[in-house]
Amino acid sequence: MPEAPPPLAAEQGFDALVIGAGFAGLYQLHALRDRLGLRVRVLEAADGVGGTWWWNRYPGARCDSESHAYAFYFSDDLLQSWDWSERYPQQPEILRYLNHVADRLDLKRDITFDARVTSARWDATAALWRVATQDGRRYAAPFLVTAVGCLSSTNMPDIPGREDFAGAIHHTGEWPHEGVDFTGKRVGMIGTGSTGIQAAPVLAETAAHLTVFQRTANYSIPARNRPLDEDFKRWAKDHAPEIKQAMHSTPNGHAWPIGERSALEVDAAEREAAFRAAWEKGGLALRATFRDILTSRAANDTAADFIKARIREVVKDPATAALLAEIDHPFATKRPPIDTGYFETFNRDTVALVDIRADPIDRITPTGLRLRSGAEHALDVIVFATGFDAMTGALLRMDITGRDGLALREAWAAGPRTQLGLQVPGFPNLFTITGPGSPSVLTNMPVAIEQHVEWISDCIAQLRRTGAATIEATEQAADDWVAHVNAAANATLMPQAGHSWYLGANVPGKPRVFMPYAGGMARYRAICAEVAADGYRGFVTAGQAAPVPA
Ligand code: NAP
Repeated sequence: MPEAPPPLAAEQGFDALVIGAGFAGLYQLHALRDRLGLRVRVLEAADGVGGTWWWNRYPGARCDSESHAYAFYFSDDLLQSWDWSERYPQQPEILRYLNHVADRLDLKRDITFDARVTSARWDATAALWRVATQDGRRYAAPFLVTAVGCLSSTNMPDIPGREDFAGAIHHTGEWPHEGVDFTGKRVGMIGTGSTGIQAAPVLAETAAHLTVFQRTANYSIPARNRPLDEDFKRWAKDHAPEIKQAMHSTPNGHAWPIGERSALEVDAAEREAAFRAAWEKGGLALRATFRDILTSRAANDTAADFIKARIREVVKDPATAALLAEIDHPFATKRPPIDTGYFETFNRDTVALVDIRADPIDRITPTGLRLRSGAEHALDVIVFATGFDAMTGALLRMDITGRDGLALREAWAAGPRTQLGLQVPGFPNLFTITGPGSPSVLTNMPVAIEQHVEWISDCIAQLRRTGAATIEATEQAADDWVAHVNAAANATLMPQAGHSWYLGANVPGKPRVFMPYAGGMARYRAICAEVAADGYRGFVTAGQAAPVPA
């Protein structure tokens, strides 16, 4: 047997390692390197920057935050040097934006691409994180920051027979870079979340036939996407400080306010007019029409009924319309998709909807899909739009081991436990950008990312000023925060969507815990600032490193 090659020597000399080069990793590198003067190395599994926007190249992929708000606001230069072309930009444009950011800030020289992290271990003696990548390289640094995204570990259902299928199988989250030609093909798409709802109308344009396999019917609001005119682009640039301020003061990090009135305090005609106006305007702001859509079931029902009526209006075949509009959870308790022609797609002769709640998929056969009833669907391509092992999947996949050999998988066996979604007890000097327990996916992501990067950078700067070698969340703080995260979720209707990925319910065997913080971004920002101002309450510092003057 050939001898195994000796392990590569660790690349030392770094102050911090960052995992991931999407929005979060790029800004974290800039903040630590260019503001604090740290030696930083970013490890990125892909061969380019972009994170989610590098991987998710499926047809129809675009953002559902408005472009002028889906950008970094920490740098006026970045804001002024970039123009978005559409209200909701497509994946290639967002990827170009992130490359623009990386080039403008000269970040790529400190990123190692094709470097998938396979393990990270805390070495207590040396007070270093020791990180290994798939290609056998080793790295070490006192600080480790994960910037791996909340929706990056794909969820591929274990449906038997995949290996027998004669056609092609693709997951939307790992889409081939050369694209897929659907011309003349019979396509089956499984999944009707944000991704499937974006992809279906585009797939239907070229496929000979598209069958959408729906397990849970979903709400969707028209995006009303459009090119941005010069006046709007100028306005957004000139008003960047106000837009930033607005994004920082709302619960969801978007630039639009939450309605002040209850849906129940106005009469039916006024309510209908408000929903109608939001529907015509398009986008996620419909859920903010009234203040209590996410907290009162009766208020929520008014929004849900309005959307269901629109679905029935659009979809011509009554049986298909009924299947699409029979939605079993309150509106916006799962992440609400926005779409471009999703429901209209079902009016095409070449598109069919199949109810796999009533008749589940039994197996993949050489020629397509067979349902439990024995019904066969002949297919050339199967598209899995089945989502992600959200929030914890990418972290657990990396085999992270903290103090005293504690594996993160073990620490989170009953669900994620963090202090503020930023740190985990037992894992010194490990910071998790948009980690479970933070608002993250319930907000406009760049806003949540900027806040975390800045908090982490300030924290590391403070450690260096005081000369402390390590910082770690306390068990008590994590217990208290988990209780608060649960209470915040329970104050909303969101836990009522029992099959939501917010609860981990989409992945068999995953603990059912509401993972993001539902108390709102503005409130969360204030809590984090107050914790820092109070001497990093809920964290302990230890050890002695050489203090670094500010
Ligand atoms: P998702 O919301 O988890 O939806 C996955 C879909 O696949 C659901 O319809 C689910 O049905 C179905 N599914 C999963 N496992 C299945 C199985 N074994 N058999 C049959 N059906 C199955 O995933 P996603 O659509 O990829 O979206 C995830 C999140 O990514 C979104 O909520 C959003 O936060 C983000 N995203 C954002 C954008 C954007 O910015 N525009 C676009 C895409 C995604 P059930 O509902 O019954 O589980």
